[in-house]
Amino acid sequence: MDLSKYHQKRDFNTTTEPKGEINKSKKELIFVVQKHAASQLHYDFRLEMDGVLKSWAIPKGPSMNPEEKRLAIMVEDHPYTYKDFEGTIPEGNYGAGNVMVWDNGTYTLADQEKTESVEAQFKSGLQNGHLSFILDGKKLKGEFALVKLKIKQKDAWLLIKKEDEHASETDVLLKNKSVISGLTLEAMAK
Ligand code: MN
Repeated sequence: MDLSKYHQKRDFNTTTEPKGEINKSKKELIFVVQKHAASQLHYDFRLEMDGVLKSWAIPKGPSMNPEEKRLAIMVEDHPYTYKDFEGTIPEGNYGAGNVMVWDNGTYTLADQEKTESVEAQFKSGLQNGHLSFILDGKKLKGEFALVKLKIKQKDAWLLIKKEDEHASETDVLLKNKSVISGLTLEAMAK
């Protein structure tokens, strides 16, 4: 859990992104999903843990359909304050393009062991390549899992919706407005 890679990749004289620092929610842990029109459109899925946002880039975006497993590439930890970042990362910067907050909310770990802290369980989940959690967002709800693929590429995971009352075959990405500004990414770009 550290921000050195995040800081290495960015020049804070030219990017509009927050420099950020280790910070925490007072009560519940938060998650955020950002829609990011970089050279390739993708969605950035972030879970707060230990003062940073653990982050995965999902090329096809999340799905509420348990049969649609979505590739999620683990990327560098982002600062906690990144949760509110919307705007344009100027040309020439890492990840140049428009970013909006597609969804946000709180999460809890599924099957939280009473004997173990949330932090300890999260960390062992990261190490074992299996995290199960329940999202309470505006668009994403219910139980999901992130499962690490056992392939050469070490940062490849799958985001999978679990079967529950929130599972659906309706394409959740059709809800395409920012939960902060109420605008689509296209409208924001103008
Ligand atoms: Mn991104």
